[in-house]
Amino acid sequence: MFISEMFQKKPCVFSIEVFPPKKEGAVQAVLYPALEAMRGLCPDFISVTYGAGGGAAGQSTAQIASYIKNELGVEALAHLTCVHSSRARIEAALAALRAARVENVLALRGDENPALPRETDFAYASDLTAAITASGGFDVAGACYPEGHFESPSLKQDVENLRHKVEAGATHLITQLFFDNGCYYRFLNMARKAGITVPVQAGVMPIVTSRQIERTVALSSASLPPKFTKMISKYSDDAEALLDAGIEYAVEQLRDLIIGGADGIHLYAMNNAQVARRVYDGIRDLLPERA
Ligand code: FAD
Repeated sequence: MFISEMFQKKPCVFSIEVFPPKKEGAVQAVLYPALEAMRGLCPDFISVTYGAGGGAAGQSTAQIASYIKNELGVEALAHLTCVHSSRARIEAALAALRAARVENVLALRGDENPALPRETDFAYASDLTAAITASGGFDVAGACYPEGHFESPSLKQDVENLRHKVEAGATHLITQLFFDNGCYYRFLNMARKAGITVPVQAGVMPIVTSRQIERTVALSSASLPPKFTKMISKYSDDAEALLDAGIEYAVEQLRDLIIGGADGIHLYAMNNAQVARRVYDGIRDLLPERA
């Protein structure tokens, strides 16, 4: 099923994101059991990230998306990046997805890896979006940035570029993670004023480990509300308390977004089914249309 159809049927679409683990054998041994547990949370779809440029990474994205769709019976969204991909390589990736009956693609530019040659067939995600849309048979989604993409001179310019992505065929958008819901509401207002009418799913990541604080929070340019920084400084040395507090923060954020009328919510669950379950338990009463 095309994901765009889900937005017509449900007030709030709920999805989970996973990534292909790097460790040998971990897809089958670790990720597949986690995905099976995530199926119990009745997500409308599960998305699978795409590692920059790597053939193996691309293959595992298609393979995992196929498992989600064909073995678990959950709709899958396969991410696909173009910064290190020629047109021929993109066509091969789409052929693999078609063969697996995966019909939803998140079209991305990706970040440049200096160790890999830059391909020039697609300059921006909007070029990839147009190519996938023209090839037919796929529903294409796009990424967006409530606080502006880091390369963009301004949020206004970024929203203007985003409009081209939607005009190129993106039927729905998923936001970068944010910790301050005000940023999402402000961005949405700007996007609507700029004529972007497609559904915009709010992406939320529960921060539950000190590793995430070091890697994600420290490196992200997301605004950190005082309540969030207080939680981090209070619990960063107490793993158990941070887990509880991080889940509570994400649940509060998501509840506000659902009540505030977000078209959908996208959970960056970092392959952790227990965290996803606890977050889901905190919001399921607001998603009454599912089992
Ligand atoms: P674009 O939409 O092409 O935008 C990139 C920059 O170019 C922006 O600053 C934009 O304003 C500007 N721009 C766009 N069009 C034009 C134009 N016509 N003229 C001038 N400037 C323009 N990365 C991965 O490697 N793998 C993943 O699986 C992955 N999944 C993601 C999922 C989500 C929901 C999000 C939000 C991000 C994801 N990323 C992933 C990260 C993403 O690839 C990076 O943020 C990347 O830097 C931008 O990708 P994009 O598709 O948003 O690019």
